[in-house]
Amino acid sequence: MIKTRLILTLSLLTVLLASCQPATATADINAIQTAAFQTAYAQINLPTETPAPTETPIPTATVPRTPPALPGTYQTAILKSHNIPRSYVADTCQYLQNKWNSNNSVPGTVVMIIMFHGINKGDASGNDITVTQHRQLMDDLHEMGFQAINMQQMADFMYNNAKIPERSVLLIVDDRHFAEYFNDHFRPYYNQWGWPVVNAYIGVDERVDLWAENAALSAEGWVDYQSHGYLHNTPISEGSSDEFITSEMGGAISSIQKYMNKTPIAYIWPGGGFSPRAVEIGPQLGYKLGFTVNPRGPVMYNWIPQADAFNDSNPSAIPEVPAGNPLMTLPRYWSTDARANIDSVRVIGQEAKAYAEQSRPTELEYYDIVCAPTYGPIP
Ligand SMILES: [Zn+2]
Repeated sequence: MIKTRLILTLSLLTVLLASCQPATATADINAIQTAAFQTAYAQINLPTETPAPTETPIPTATVPRTPPALPGTYQTAILKSHNIPRSYVADTCQYLQNKWNSNNSVPGTVVMIIMFHGINKGDASGNDITVTQHRQLMDDLHEMGFQAINMQQMADFMYNNAKIPERSVLLIVDDRHFAEYFNDHFRPYYNQWGWPVVNAYIGVDERVDLWAENAALSAEGWVDYQSHGYLHNTPISEGSSDEFITSEMGGAISSIQKYMNKTPIAYIWPGGGFSPRAVEIGPQLGYKLGFTVNPRGPVMYNWIPQADAFNDSNPSAIPEVPAGNPLMTLPRYWSTDARANIDSVRVIGQEAKAYAEQSRPTELEYYDIVCAPTYGPIP
C-alpha cells in the first residue's frame, strides 16, 4: 500500500515539475525588467521607502474587551452627611441583572418606611400624632403618588428588586393595639386604596382576647403581623446574652405562629435596640429584614442609608454599620415628622432614577463583557 502511494506521489510531482518548465523563461524576463526599472528609479534619487511590516489582521471577535469601571453608588446632599447610602449585594453581576431586568422595579423605586405609635382622638404629644395629623399624612402620601406595600413585597424588593410601586410606603405600627385602632385608622385606606399596614406585635403569651382580635385581622390579610420581641420591654444591647437575644427574637416567631398561623419575616427592634450579635442571630432564626427607630432616609434596592458612628444630630440613634448587615437595620421615619419628609423622599427617587439612566450604558457594557457569559442576557 505504502509503496504504491509513494510511486503515485512521485509521478504526480514529475507532472507538476514538467508543467512548470515554460514559466521559468517568463520569470527571467520579469526579473530583468524589474532590475532595469529599479536602476532608473534610483537615478531619480528618491529615497527608497522601507515597506511597512504587514500586520496579520486579528478577527475582532477574539479581541479581549476591557470592562469599563462601574459608576459609584448614587449619593445625595438631601440626606445628612453621616447618613451614607450603603450597598449590600455582594455579587455585582446579580445586582446589575436585578437592576436592569425589565420585569423588576424600575431604578429609582423608593420606599419610605414610617413607624406609628398612638393616633389620638384628642391631643397628642411625644411619639403620638392626632387623628387629623394622621389623615393629613395618609392623604399627602396618596396625593404624592405613594402606595403602601406589605412585608413580603418589601423583602422581595430589597433582596431581588422585585416589582413594587415606584413610590412605595411601608406603614409599621409598633406594639399591641385593639382591633378598633386598625379599624378606625387604617381600614379606610385599605378599602379606598388597597393599602396594607404592618403591625410589629409583641410575642408574650398573654391577653388571649387581644390575640384573638388581632388574629381575626391577620386572617383578613391586610394587617400584616411581624415580630416586635417576646417580652419587648428590655431593648437588646451590646451586653445582651445569646440566650436573651434568642428568647426575644425566637419567642416572637413561636407566638405569631401559634396564634396567627403565619411565620414573621421581619423583626422590629423593641426600643430600637440591636447589637452585632443580634443582627447575626436574626437571619439564623429566619428573619429577612430588621427595622430600627433611626430616621436616616428612605431605602432603595441595594441602597440603605446608615451611619458609621454616633453623631450629635441624633445622639440616640445607634450606628448600624458596625452591626454589619444593612438589611437587618433598616431606617424608619417617625410618624410625627414623616409628612415633612415626603417630598425629599420623592426627590431622592427622581434623582436616583436620573443617575441610573446616566449609568445605564456603562453598566450594560460591563454586564455584557463580564457577566453575560455566565449569567446569560438580562431578561
Ligand atoms: Zn415597642
